[in-house]
Amino acid sequence: MRVLWAPWRIEYLRKYGGGVKSCIFCDAVRGDDRSHYVVFRSRYSIAMLNIYPYNTAHVMVAPIRHVPRPDLLTEEEIMDIHRLVTLVMRAIEDEYSPQGFNIGMNIGRVAGAGIEAHMHIHIVPRWNGDTNFMPVIAGTKVMPEDLVTTWKRIRGAIQRQLSK
Ligand SMILES: [Zn+2]
Repeated sequence: MRVLWAPWRIEYLRKYGGGVKSCIFCDAVRGDDRSHYVVFRSRYSIAMLNIYPYNTAHVMVAPIRHVPRPDLLTEEEIMDIHRLVTLVMRAIEDEYSPQGFNIGMNIGRVAGAGIEAHMHIHIVPRWNGDTNFMPVIAGTKVMPEDLVTTWKRIRGAIQRQLSK
């Protein structure tokens, strides 16, 4: 991921990245879809919007279990999380027509992980020229679509994928 400096994430990291026990993924697992922007729940994983997205429709997929690394997942969890990543990818492709994706994980703070304790896979759709799309000007970030709209569109697109 190209973004190493992101001032809008400071409050978020202050709340979730430090010694505090709360975890955004565990909060989302226990909470309701709307307030955590959850787009899908499978047996062992959860997909939710990144509320400080690197691009429109930036989704994160995490195991339900609070584990820091993918080598700690069971075979069933691996299958389930992979299926959910591909489902979300297809849904975004169908709804937003990106030209590509960045899909991956940051393991450890040095690698850029904001939440180290609970592993998650970033799914970031990419469009030609999208780096001009999200300028950082004096600590503010202009996003092309509001989160509630994105949340509704991706949920709808996932349901369409499932009914195919
Ligand atoms: Zn957690």
